[in-house]
Amino acid sequence: MARVNFKRVDLDRVYLPLVAVALQVVARCEARGVSYVATYGFRSLEEQAELRCLFLSGKGGKASAAGLSAHNYGLAFDFVCDGDAKPGVQPDWRLPAYRVLGEESTKAGLVWGGRFGDAPHVQWPAYVSALQLTPLRTLVESSSVAAVWARLDEERKSPQWRAANPKLSAELERLGF
Ligand SMILES: [Zn+2]
Repeated sequence: MARVNFKRVDLDRVYLPLVAVALQVVARCEARGVSYVATYGFRSLEEQAELRCLFLSGKGGKASAAGLSAHNYGLAFDFVCDGDAKPGVQPDWRLPAYRVLGEESTKAGLVWGGRFGDAPHVQWPAYVSALQLTPLRTLVESSSVAAVWARLDEERKSPQWRAANPKLSAELERLGF
């Protein structure tokens, strides 16, 4: 059961359709013999700003500015590859360890961060770049993350979205969304 792989993150703060598909993806990776554990889901604007500060001062990994990460809207997960069967997570940060995650998330219609140098990252499509994320930041500033999710709910019901996202549409339909 893949849910145990998500026990470190608060799934209530991640967009439910993404949670459902990510559970499938991680289960398929497990079936292929590779275990991924979610380390991050939602990240607040304050947390994002702190990470950005650390990055800019050379003390942390690459981090987008507050509001310009899909995590700020509950639209992304970061995973670590659990390197072996020993108890606890044995992190494997080598790039090839994320190949299976990339294959399965792409097959499910999600966006894999390996496309832009962030192999542990998997996210909802079409909200990747600063340009794409800025309207969501505006919406959160005037309302809430719930308003963002309501907008995405509307969006994914449209024929245009389904045509642009055939694999993700099929996954969601199968999962009862
Ligand atoms: Zn990420």
